[in-house]
Amino acid sequence: MTDTTLDASGATCGCKVGRVADRYGLVGLDDELVSYWTDRTDERYSTRDLAEHVNQRVLESALDDAGLQYKDGEVENTYRLLTSDDVSSGTRVQTRKELERDGIDVEDVQGDFVSHQTVYNHLTNCLEASLESPSDEERLERSRDKLGALRNRTAAVTEDTVDQLQRSDVLDIGEFNVLVTVSVTCEDCKQQYTIRDLLDQGGCDCQSTTE
Ligand SMILES: [Zn+2]
Ligand SMILES: [Zn+2]
Repeated sequence: MTDTTLDASGATCGCKVGRVADRYGLVGLDDELVSYWTDRTDERYSTRDLAEHVNQRVLESALDDAGLQYKDGEVENTYRLLTSDDVSSGTRVQTRKELERDGIDVEDVQGDFVSHQTVYNHLTNCLEASLESPSDEERLERSRDKLGALRNRTAAVTEDTVDQLQRSDVLDIGEFNVLVTVSVTCEDCKQQYTIRDLLDQGGCDCQSTTE
């Protein structure tokens, strides 16, 4: 187990991801991990998505080794049945039983599943991959999403609160609407913007030197 020389399958490292890729013959896994992780579109995988991807390939390979036939989507579904919190323990036990009947050592296979932290370490330490910092537009987009969600939450909580007070006769109001507006004032020129406008236009008018 201490042999660290590269073998024919091209294991790149001795971490759990490398060992698992080696054991199950997961060809091209490292390339997949790096490209899915560093993808700059919405399709980009989080390390959680990547761990799931690795584990599904492990499961797929175990099914292959046992000579099982499976349809499109069946590996993903089996993985979900084995691991998801949304699945009842009865269903999980049933799934394990079926796999074991088909000659798969589920305990063993699950022991080879990797965590998102392990994948992250493999990417950054073993493969020396790094995420490019997001573009300005991506950062604005993410901020918009984050603040939009916060605004919706504030509106929902406000509505609930007014509703409750009204129902217990502490507050009198007719039908009502809640509108949450967050504004930002530039102290240089005292101009006020809604946060949405400010993000959309990318700064205060007074700061734009060139156009
Ligand atoms: Zn590694
Ligand atoms: Zn200004």
